[in-house]
Amino acid sequence: MSEKFTKIKDLPMHDGEEVLVGAWIRQKRGSKKIAFLQLRDGSGFVQAVVSLDEVDQATFNIAEHIKQETSVVVSGVVQENSRDSFGYELSVKSIQIIGESNDYPITPKDHGTDFLFEHRHLYLRHLKPYAIMKIRNTIIKATYDFFWNNGFTKIDAPIITSSAPEGTSELFPVKYFEQDAYLSQTGQLYAEAGAMAFGRVFTFGPTFRAEKSKTRRHLNEFWMIEPEMAYTHQEESLEIQEKYIASLVQAVLDNNQSELKMLDRDLDVLKKYTILPYPRLSYDQAIEKLQAANFDVQWGDDFGSPEETFISDQFEQPVFVTNYPKAVKAFYMKRHPDRDDVVISADLLAPEGYGEIIGGSERDTDFNYLEKRIKEQGLNPQDYSWYLDLRKYGSVPHSGFGLGLERVITWIAGQDHIREAIPFPRTLNRIWP
Ligand code: ATP
Ligand code: MG
Repeated sequence: MSEKFTKIKDLPMHDGEEVLVGAWIRQKRGSKKIAFLQLRDGSGFVQAVVSLDEVDQATFNIAEHIKQETSVVVSGVVQENSRDSFGYELSVKSIQIIGESNDYPITPKDHGTDFLFEHRHLYLRHLKPYAIMKIRNTIIKATYDFFWNNGFTKIDAPIITSSAPEGTSELFPVKYFEQDAYLSQTGQLYAEAGAMAFGRVFTFGPTFRAEKSKTRRHLNEFWMIEPEMAYTHQEESLEIQEKYIASLVQAVLDNNQSELKMLDRDLDVLKKYTILPYPRLSYDQAIEKLQAANFDVQWGDDFGSPEETFISDQFEQPVFVTNYPKAVKAFYMKRHPDRDDVVISADLLAPEGYGEIIGGSERDTDFNYLEKRIKEQGLNPQDYSWYLDLRKYGSVPHSGFGLGLERVITWIAGQDHIREAIPFPRTLNRIWP
């Protein structure tokens, strides 16, 4: 077949022309003489108007009886329509049914979240997931752009590993022939090896954590972006982090106006997140603020979601909380030069109660200290001997951070649960579809 289809997003370029569109029927309404078909093709949405004045009775009958999610090829003339939210409509000449659709389960009535995620393979076709996945796509593209423009090399960390830097309790085991192995919780240690080879690197891949908690922010499989920079101290790393986040928000503002509108996201709120610098607050100061507000927290506690929300509510932008207690952070974080109880770290907390989106730190450079810390964490130094090599052969100051892709999407898209931010979420109760 030689037919060529016009994408719905390109219709404005064909004003007044007759085009062929390959699409699916989202919804339909109409009367005896006119039918309105809502079409989608993955690039956009448009209303097709089928009028008995323009088409024969047979074509009108097709339109009248067509069912939700039937696939169709429609030919019609592109016409501007300022009343339509998409600006254009299609005045239909003919309709050809490609694939029937009977008893499509996700009807226009309200469905519960469980039902929708049980049908995620179909639910992806609907407006809200569409808008969120387009925003996800922009954030992925903007990530590559940012790191490319700032001289980073992407290196891919392995997914099957023998190490457990984020703690041994949240691992998914896999059998690696005769050996025990795990799905990767983080690519960071490998990123450090990369930084010693290429200066500035980032990893971007799936990570796995067997978290048994049912929160709005935890997935068991999520995508993480982990930059690592040689000859970079923490302050410079924080500047890169805030520039990176601002670039993501700006990219979504530039490319996803219609999607943000579908999601009712407040653009003025988002615009504030492009203004730099972001505020910085030490962990000590955060504890003081929390205690002054009668939170039941002691110095040394890690923050849960209520504490993070309280802290971020003090600001209109993301806020860095710096220098956490050593005891609650990973073994590789650099000791503070003047204090033994904190590390040179920072978590970036998103506003509006979205919680931690970045965890980062300067990395310790000392072989003996790291070996000791590995043992203290109950880990086997043998498993980390390759990592310790990085401190044996030309150790340099370096810093890095990890950003959870879905946390950022959830925040920028203004969603209330992280499962919305990934095509096929893996949560405590869901590994299907
Ligand atoms: P949290 O305290 O929220 O569990 P964490 O301290 O375990 O986070 P890190 O180990 O620092 O997180 O991971 C870096 C980033 O990865 C986090 O800032 C967050 O954006 C993201 N992240 C961590 N765990 C998850 C998860 N289970 N699901 C989705 N994103 C996650
Ligand atoms: Mg965690």
